[in-house]
Amino acid sequence: MQDHIELVNQLAIATPSPVNPIQLPVLQDYDVTLEVKRDDLLHPIISGNKWRKLQGHLQRVLNAKTQNDSPISALLSFGGGFSNHLHALGYCCYQLHMPFTAIVRGNYTSHFTPMLEDLQAWGTTIQFVDKKTYQRRYEPDYLRLLSHEHPKTRIIPEGGSDDLVLKGVASMLDEIEDLDEYEYLLCPVASGGTLAGIAQGLAERNSRCQVIGIAMLKGDTYLENLVRQLLPNEYPMPRIIHDFHCGGYAKCPTQLATFCDNFAEQTHIPVEPVYSGKLFYAIMQLIEQGFFPKGSRLLALHTGGLQGARK
Ligand SMILES: *Cc1c(COP(=O)(O)O)cnc(C)c1O
Repeated sequence: MQDHIELVNQLAIATPSPVNPIQLPVLQDYDVTLEVKRDDLLHPIISGNKWRKLQGHLQRVLNAKTQNDSPISALLSFGGGFSNHLHALGYCCYQLHMPFTAIVRGNYTSHFTPMLEDLQAWGTTIQFVDKKTYQRRYEPDYLRLLSHEHPKTRIIPEGGSDDLVLKGVASMLDEIEDLDEYEYLLCPVASGGTLAGIAQGLAERNSRCQVIGIAMLKGDTYLENLVRQLLPNEYPMPRIIHDFHCGGYAKCPTQLATFCDNFAEQTHIPVEPVYSGKLFYAIMQLIEQGFFPKGSRLLALHTGGLQGARK
């Protein structure tokens, strides 16, 4: 615990993140309330949901570092050219003085994204790989090869999602007063770690609040399988709604773009179309479909991710 407080201090994470009420006419029309857990405010650089997910990984490496003859002294992970995960991890490693290697899908050598420019400024070793190589990111043979090329390095999976993330994500629930006053907690789903962590956390806390995941990408059954693999069997599988991916991961049709602009203007809460904007887009449509019974109290998790929207 002491170690953990040090990590929070060292990275200047602003916990607990606030919960803000939303005021929009549609909420009154359908007699529901909506509040937002603002994990986008946890840190100006480290995307909120990635802090929740990465703290277990970072703590593990820091603990190893304090032992003499540490077996681990560096980190490596995977992502795309706009990845919030690589961005957050790159910044944490820079602050914690840990060497970091980013395996990036595609070749951006001649046109770095703002995310990659940040990584470079923070001293990350960037390795571009083609699609085919990137597809091997879960293969034991490929991981062995990477381990060989990068000794004493902890390899973190894409999006940071493995069993180490669940506790960090669930700790968010302890920051919410009156958790049981909410009927529904809604969050985005991409690699599934956030939803699995919340599902486990709610069950462990015997909460009556029900979590619903909103799929950010096309993946009927695929996303359910990811969550099931992360979530120990004794916990019930949460529901995932697949109707609002808007064509796929990071796809942004005009309707979604317009929604994001209007939502940010009306609520003064910044959103981007890949995660948070898509989540609220889905919630508003579900409300208008009468999905939530009258009188329902909803809590949405704003996972951050605004860095990814930079041009
Ligand atoms: C990575 C990410 C998610 C998705 O979380 P998963 O645990 O991968 O499902 C949601 N929102 C933001 C802002 C993210 O960066």
